[in-house]
Amino acid sequence: MNRVRKIALEEHFMAPGFESYSEVFLKNIPANVRQELSSKLNDFDDLRLADMDQAGVEMVLLSQSGPGVQAEPDTAQAIRKARENNDFLAERIARNPSRYAGFATLPMQDPKAAAIELERAVKQLGFKGSMVNGHTLGVYYDDPAYDPFWEKMQELDVPMYLHPVNFHDVPHNMKGHPVLAGAVWGWGVETGTHALRLLFGGVFDRFPNLKLILGHMGEGLPFMRWRFDSRFAVYSQGINLQRQPSAYFGSNILITTSGVCSSPTLLGAIGEMGPEGVMFSIDYPYESTQLAVDFIEQAPMDERTRALICYDNAKRIFKL
Ligand code: MN
Repeated sequence: MNRVRKIALEEHFMAPGFESYSEVFLKNIPANVRQELSSKLNDFDDLRLADMDQAGVEMVLLSQSGPGVQAEPDTAQAIRKARENNDFLAERIARNPSRYAGFATLPMQDPKAAAIELERAVKQLGFKGSMVNGHTLGVYYDDPAYDPFWEKMQELDVPMYLHPVNFHDVPHNMKGHPVLAGAVWGWGVETGTHALRLLFGGVFDRFPNLKLILGHMGEGLPFMRWRFDSRFAVYSQGINLQRQPSAYFGSNILITTSGVCSSPTLLGAIGEMGPEGVMFSIDYPYESTQLAVDFIEQAPMDERTRALICYDNAKRIFKL
């Protein structure tokens, strides 16, 4: 079989000294599963490369497993640990530059420090963008204090992958329902809401060349895209946008297939985002590489579209 070439974008590792940040969700995972996850997260050699080879994945963009420094209450510590994390990753990538590329960890506690670290990671370490694990201690990045950060990110012309994280405050209707508040549903609500704050907060109007990537088939947003226009036209609450809400999808907001291996959902997402707005990803090691690869290789679409989603879009957007 002539396999489609693949690049995957939501593939995680664990840097030394970052385990405790992940405890918040790892504590709910059975010990044996946790051990296996840990082995895969810490590995940059045999396990990861064998998995990629088996699946026909040529290259992965690596990112620190969440929530990382987004959960660090001490700003100076977050700045220090982000630098350490990025230096660690750069050293691992240097061993295998044809298979690995990197997303920077950023200390979003301090917008100017985050901009400085992004510039260092891109210009000095060769990273392709950033992976930010949602809000920082309840602060969202539509806040005007982040405009200098967005300005720098636009200047550097690299995307941000906005990754799910736990709610800062669990919503009233999910209190006492940890299944709803977590990965099953709440992470998508949290992350999709953050992306909509950026959109309706005018961040993409102020910085029209920003690219924000959402995993998990766009955290559900593509399926509400038509309704965003329809209801915003009636209930704009005094907000003015330069474009229809739907127009920011496929231009400023791009999505990946990580952790959603359903063909009908994929076809719907391609319809809303356009074939250049969807990219393949796995979410290694939390999701099955084999499942993700079987799904994307067999999903009903023409081969030109499959090549865009699996390889060409990522190559173009990340300048690989
Ligand atoms: Mn992930």
